[in-house]
Amino acid sequence: MTGGATLVDAMKIQVMKVPEEGLSLDTSYDPQQLNVDRQDAHLTSPVRLATRVTREGEDLFVQGSLRCVLTMICGRCLESFDATVDKELLLHYDVTGKYVVDITDDVRQELVLEYPMIALCRSDCLGLCPRCGVNRNHTTCSCNA
Ligand SMILES: [Zn+2]
Ligand SMILES: [Zn+2]
Repeated sequence: MTGGATLVDAMKIQVMKVPEEGLSLDTSYDPQQLNVDRQDAHLTSPVRLATRVTREGEDLFVQGSLRCVLTMICGRCLESFDATVDKELLLHYDVTGKYVVDITDDVRQELVLEYPMIALCRSDCLGLCPRCGVNRNHTTCSCNA
């Protein structure tokens, strides 16, 4: 990789360069560029975008998909696990008087919306024993708590 700048520029769409038939925009973001880490959720791989950019008059549309892997910490058992995010994307911009549209903020926003309120390694995670602290997914203790 030749540094972050190339990737950032890939997300700036030059309005005048979008042809009538549209264009494909396939690119990826570094985790650091998006800076969307939460205490219990970290981006550990690039965010991939596969989109189609079209323009109708003063309306610009970016449609496609966003994929990445989040490494999260389970809110019950505190073990880390990976979750794949695969999300459909449809962004719309009014480009009246604009030459360049930067979609970075919206991509960040879309991604953060995918974060679960509480990360769980699985919906039936048994969590830690409140008394002795063992991970009850792996160990059965005799606390009866
Ligand atoms: Zn868990
Ligand atoms: Zn216990």
